[in-house]
Amino acid sequence: MKTKRTKVSELLQSTEFDREVLVKGWVRTKRGNKHVNFIAVNDGSTIKNIQVVADPNQISEDTLRLVTTGASISVTGKLVASQGAGQNMEIQASQLEVLGTADPEKYPLQPKKHSFEFLREIAHLRPRTSTFSAVYRMRHAMSFAVHQFFNQKGFVYMHTPIVTGSDAEGAGEMFRVTTLDAKNPPLTEDGSVDFSEDFFGKETNLTVSGQLEGELGALALGDIYTFGPTFRAENSNTTRHLAEFWMIEPEMAFYELSDNMDLAEEFLKYLAKYALDNCADDLEFLENRLLDEEKNKPATDRSPMTLREKLQFVVENDFERVSYTDAVEILKNSKPNKKKKFQFPVEGWGTDLQSEHERYLVEKHFNKPVILFDYPKDIKAFYMRMNDDDKTVGAMDILFPGIGEIVGGSQREERLDVLRARMAEMHIPEEEMDWYLDTRRFGSVPHSGFGLGFERLMIFVTGLGNIRDVIPFPRTPGNAMY
Ligand code: ATP
Ligand code: MN
Repeated sequence: MKTKRTKVSELLQSTEFDREVLVKGWVRTKRGNKHVNFIAVNDGSTIKNIQVVADPNQISEDTLRLVTTGASISVTGKLVASQGAGQNMEIQASQLEVLGTADPEKYPLQPKKHSFEFLREIAHLRPRTSTFSAVYRMRHAMSFAVHQFFNQKGFVYMHTPIVTGSDAEGAGEMFRVTTLDAKNPPLTEDGSVDFSEDFFGKETNLTVSGQLEGELGALALGDIYTFGPTFRAENSNTTRHLAEFWMIEPEMAFYELSDNMDLAEEFLKYLAKYALDNCADDLEFLENRLLDEEKNKPATDRSPMTLREKLQFVVENDFERVSYTDAVEILKNSKPNKKKKFQFPVEGWGTDLQSEHERYLVEKHFNKPVILFDYPKDIKAFYMRMNDDDKTVGAMDILFPGIGEIVGGSQREERLDVLRARMAEMHIPEEEMDWYLDTRRFGSVPHSGFGLGFERLMIFVTGLGNIRDVIPFPRTPGNAMY
């Protein structure tokens, strides 16, 4: 009978020794001598390798010569308990076949440390490294956890459009979608591009948020969420912004702002706990990677907590809820503000908070995740619900250590007259938004929602410092490889 292939993750759980197994995977390292070879094989199912012991009496030297880092192999052999340090089992190879060679002179990934910058340039091969395979397995686990969380709560997963005909989302600069000839577009009489001749008969863009369409769903289905690609043509090269990222946007009927905060906090805690419970091996590896990286930093810049301690901390501690107004007072009186250490000094009420301010609040002042709420209306979007003070709106942002804003949300303005007044104030054309206003005309209810940037979450759970390293193929200004 032909032996069936077993994944390495499954083998490593096994306690059934002295049986024949078949594994297939890629060679991470080979070491040894004339008498015996030790081959570390990884098949992507786990961060861990399985050790294959190849005796030159069993496996020809011609074959073993081709077993180099990066080559793919198929091994049949006996699974035995191992005496060696670092593993409790190994495979004594009886047959070994090289499926695909990898010329050691040319294969870019050698068993040594490569910089993240270098690996970004070979993003097509970086999933073969331990770090990136861990990140991508965790991306999968966290995606699954997102769906599980909402499914258990009875939310409906709603697919909102990626090509959007609404230009009032207002969350950022958009990418135009067009089939018009860029060199020779049709023009209107006044010389501007005539989009009525474009594919959709109008100007269209890639979505910056599924929220407005999500609201339509919530006002029929009660609780919905979206989880899809989102695009922002922000020409800011930061470690926290991508031009293409994935966003999770729940939208809930009958939720007020505090319900919204409760849900977002419960969600983030659930995700952190899910990672701890389900990604132990990958987390351990990423935690050690981070400790290693931090060794090069001055002691004061090192994180006081390990990666898993940070996740545990989020699970166990309530987030600090602070109004924007109180936060500004704290910042105004803070040491860095008084000593003019902020690049943007905090002068008073009404200014938008910069990332340096958010990080001061989270990392220095409160030392825990912070939910800021009730922001000045002038720095927030038109759909956020006006508070009784007529100055602030029911917005809430969640700030995380090392990241800054991870969630942005609000209670939505459900009162037709107030919403229309806000739209007029902000020069949002009503004709374009009639469909949105209909939800307020017919059976309007208080409702709320938020957006969680999936890659910001991934920065948090993996401990990586750059958003380009938590998505397989990052899109940033000047870069759209693959
Ligand atoms: P920031 O101030 O950090 O640019 P924002 O205020 O533009 O964020 P929102 O419009 O509220 O963010 O979007 C909701 C969430 O989407 C943010 O909290 C963040 O997690 C994520 N996000 C926003 N812009 C980006 C981006 N360019 N790349 C990755 N994630 C993003
Ligand atoms: Mn932004």
